[in-house]
Amino acid sequence: MPDMTKLYEDMGIRRAVLAFGREAEAGLKERFDEIDRTAEYNQLKVIHAMQENRVCEACFNYASGYGYSDQGRDTLEGVYASVFHTDSALVRPQITCGTHALSLALGANLRPGDELLSPVGKPYDTLEEVIGIRPSNGSLAEYGITYRQVDLKEDGTFDYDRIEEALQERTKIVTIQRSKGYQTRPSFSVGQIGELIAFVKKRKPGVICMVDNCYGEFVETVEPSDVGADMVVGSLIKNPGGGLAPIGGYIAGRKDLIDACGYRLTSPGLGKEVGASLGVMQSFYQGLFLAPTVAASALKGAIFAAGIYEKLGFGVIPDSKESRHDIIQAVQLGTPEGVVAFCKGIQAAAPVDSYVSPEPWAMPGYDSDVIMAAGAFVQGSSIELSADGPIKPPYAVYFQGGLTWPHARLGILMSLEYIVREGIVKI
Ligand SMILES: *Cc1c(COP(=O)(O)O)cnc(C)c1O
Repeated sequence: MPDMTKLYEDMGIRRAVLAFGREAEAGLKERFDEIDRTAEYNQLKVIHAMQENRVCEACFNYASGYGYSDQGRDTLEGVYASVFHTDSALVRPQITCGTHALSLALGANLRPGDELLSPVGKPYDTLEEVIGIRPSNGSLAEYGITYRQVDLKEDGTFDYDRIEEALQERTKIVTIQRSKGYQTRPSFSVGQIGELIAFVKKRKPGVICMVDNCYGEFVETVEPSDVGADMVVGSLIKNPGGGLAPIGGYIAGRKDLIDACGYRLTSPGLGKEVGASLGVMQSFYQGLFLAPTVAASALKGAIFAAGIYEKLGFGVIPDSKESRHDIIQAVQLGTPEGVVAFCKGIQAAAPVDSYVSPEPWAMPGYDSDVIMAAGAFVQGSSIELSADGPIKPPYAVYFQGGLTWPHARLGILMSLEYIVREGIVKI
């Protein structure tokens, strides 16, 4: 083995930082073993789905025009349906992002006069405009679809009494967000989501349960569709794209609901039959194939960061021991300087744009300056190692991703290097 310490040093990581990291890592071995077992199971699940659906070389062919009988597209949708154990799936490059996929699933299955219920508090920021919580051009509210929300209880659990009250005659869809996103509530395990769905369906049998699955795919061996969700929805530039999908979103679920999504995405009468895959299929298949181990790498990175920063006395959510339900890690650095140094370190460790230095700025849609670190192959891809932090108390950074565990490790060591360099901590 050539001298690894020297290579780390050449890349800017001092020995003391490396040693600190090695020590933190040694305490995480059991957790990493558990993550590897989950990845093994999910890898088998994906390969099994590909075999069952007879994926073949022709699936990677270029299809253009209307895309009638696009074999790669139709087979991939079968593979997603097998992975999520659903009747059907819609997996398309024409679904531009996660927000679009969620907007599509809702818009396709709600009609004027229906009500949407979120029993888990406020949804992800971008959904506010989709729903019309913040007035917006084309929102569900503009089409006469109402929205009701039940917040979580103080302790982060479901408020079953109020959920029961909120389930009305007009309630058509119940939307459940698996990941906390960038909020401080806990993320939910698939088991918890299953309990919530069982409760909701007992009170109102016909209601459609949709789960925003963003950042949650392959973190556990089961998915929300295994515990009663009628639709699961996500982005291909997060976990299931495995870092290779350059665009896209998916919706997997009950056939009638997915058919409706097809009609909404393309046109009434046309539905899933059109929409050429334009040569992007190989990356979708190969990305899905890699996704279980990519999600495992990101999880190891998140736990490693929790281990390092809790050792240094910072608040970390979740901590290095807690069970994980998504790939997001928050670290409360407590000062603007800490947030900036952390993000500069993540950027400096990237394979792309490592030489640029991120600075806080007033991004539209945020009520404070925000700093973002991303050196990604796919623009905005958050399955690649990325971090961002609003410059306001409690001065927390949120980070996620890492296509490989060695890169996630390097990024976190580099964040620590920058924090040590700035004199924010001594090790
Ligand atoms: C990322 C995310 C979305 C939106 O996905 P985009 O691809 O950014 O539009 C929605 N919900 C959750 C929980 C997310 O993490």
